[in-house]
Amino acid sequence: MHDPELPVFDDAGLNQGSPSQTYLQQALAAVLDADGLPPIVQAGHPVLRARALPFTGQLTDPDLARLIEIMTETMRAAPGVGLAAPQIGIPLQLAVLEDVYDVSAENAAARHREPLELFAILNPRYTPAGNALASHYEGCLSVPGWQAVVDRPAAVDLSYDDELGTARTRRFTGWQARIVQHESDHLAGTLYLDKAHTRSLASNAQYNEHWANPDIAAARAGLNF
Ligand code: ZN
Repeated sequence: MHDPELPVFDDAGLNQGSPSQTYLQQALAAVLDADGLPPIVQAGHPVLRARALPFTGQLTDPDLARLIEIMTETMRAAPGVGLAAPQIGIPLQLAVLEDVYDVSAENAAARHREPLELFAILNPRYTPAGNALASHYEGCLSVPGWQAVVDRPAAVDLSYDDELGTARTRRFTGWQARIVQHESDHLAGTLYLDKAHTRSLASNAQYNEHWANPDIAAARAGLNF
């Protein structure tokens, strides 16, 4: 049994700022040929800052299914509610999403958090549905230990291809809309911190001590953002 070892993402992996197809194939092989789950790439790695390559059939159907399975297991083990392929070192426009955690009724109501069944998205694009914004703390498996408030459209229309290659458009609202935007942003090389109120940044310990409330009014007043 060996854990995946990612290829070195250096100048050879970049083609005018984009990942090369060669690098993509090396990264795919590193993850698909390993027995263990891949490590989650941490902020500072350039693969998280490059626009991922669109999926244009670089994987066979069985390999795509296996990659989605690996990503799902990695997301659940973390645990998290979404995982984008660059987070396991693969610069491909693919993400998995699932939110079936038990949360308190108060928390669920304040965040408009409804269960989201597992699904995979390829080549996603979202557009806001309406002008309403929602502001909540969020975190990222690639920036562990920290959370910050991000204002995001409260509803979005997401266009994507499913794992069978069918083009789909689906509207998401509430917490689901936040997950969809967070994961789609990863595929464009954007981290949530790029959009966050940086003054709201809180370690998990500080968040739990002071701001663990679905309503961010207290944090806004206490941290001056
Ligand atoms: Zn993330």
